[in-house]
Amino acid sequence: MTTIAFLGLGHMGLPMATNLARAGHDVRGFDVVDAARESAAASGLAVAADAQAAVEGADVVITMFPTGRHVVEAYAGSDGVVGLLAAVGRRALFIDCSTISVDEARAAHKLAGSAGHRSLDAPVSGGVVGAENATLAFMVGGSDEDFELARPFLEAMGRRIVHCGGAGLGQAAKVCNNMILGVTQIAVGEAFVLGERLGLSHEALYEVASNASGQCWALTTNCPVPGPVPTSPANNEYRPGFAGTLMAKDLNLAAQAIDQVGLDARMGLLARELYAAFAAGDGASMDFSGIITTIRDTTTEGAVR
Ligand code: NAD
Repeated sequence: MTTIAFLGLGHMGLPMATNLARAGHDVRGFDVVDAARESAAASGLAVAADAQAAVEGADVVITMFPTGRHVVEAYAGSDGVVGLLAAVGRRALFIDCSTISVDEARAAHKLAGSAGHRSLDAPVSGGVVGAENATLAFMVGGSDEDFELARPFLEAMGRRIVHCGGAGLGQAAKVCNNMILGVTQIAVGEAFVLGERLGLSHEALYEVASNASGQCWALTTNCPVPGPVPTSPANNEYRPGFAGTLMAKDLNLAAQAIDQVGLDARMGLLARELYAAFAAGDGASMDFSGIITTIRDTTTEGAVR
C-alpha cells in the first residue's frame, strides 16, 4: 500500500483522491478551504489537519490547484509556512495535476529536484465526469523513471496516460491541445451562425460537416446548437461541461507560451481575446461552446446579398 498525500480537494481533486483510495492506497487529503475538507470527510476520505500533516512521510504527493502560483508557493512554502517539499521529510514523488504554464511547471520541477525529490507535471483532460469515472487523460512531463513509478497511480484515476517528454512537456501538450479546441469551437460556432443566416438548417450542416473535412470534436461531441448531438451542453442551456472561464484560463497559458517562443499564432491569440470577453460576461458560468451565443449577439441581422 502506498501512502499518498492529495492536496486540493476541489471539483477535480476530490473525485481523483477518492479513486486512489478505492484502488487501495492510503490517501490523506487536504484543502485550505474548510468546506472542501468537510465535504471530503463526509464522502469518506481521510482528511489531515494541515498540509504538513498530510504530506509527512508520504511516498507520493499529488497537487490539484487552481493556478501555477498556488503550486510553486505550496512546494516552496511562503510567509513562514513550511513548504510541501520540506514537510514530506523523505524522498517522494511529486505529481502536479493542475493546469499551469510550462514555465511554472519547470520552476516546480526545479524546486522539487533541488530538494532531492522526483517530480512530474501531469495535467488532465476529461473534466469532472472524467475525474469521477476515473477516465481522465493524463499528459505527463518528466523522466522515464518517474513516469513509470507514477503510472499505477495515474491509471487509478484515468484511462489514457501519455508520456509527452521531459519537464513541462505535459503542460505543453495540454496548452497546444486546448488551443486547437478553443479555435475550433469558435470556428464551428461561426459556421452554424453563418448557416442560419443563409437559411441552412442545423441538421443539414451537421450531416454534411460531420461526415466531411469539417469534422472535429467541437462539432461531433460539443455541438454548439441543440439537436444534432443530444448529449452536448447546447441541449442543456449550455451548462458546463467545460466552463468558459477555464477555456479563457487555458488560452491565457497558451498566449504566454506563444509569447515565450515568439510564434506568429494569430488564431490562438484571437481565440484568447474572444474567450476573455466571453468569460467576463455570461460565459463565466456557461460551457465554452456557448460562445456561439455571443457570435449571434454581435452579428447584425442582415439580408443575404
Ligand atoms: P477547484 O477550484 O474546484 O479546486 C482547487 C482546490 O485547490 C480548491 O478547493 C482550493 O481551495 C485548493 N487549494 C488551493 N491552494 C491550496 C493549497 N495550497 N493547499 C491545499 N489546497 C489548495 O478547481 P478544479 O476545477 O478542481 O481544477 C483544478 C485544476 O484542474 C485547475 O488547474 C484546472 O484548470 C484544472 N482542470 C479543471 C477541469 C475542470 O473541468 N474543472 C478540467 C481539466 C483541468
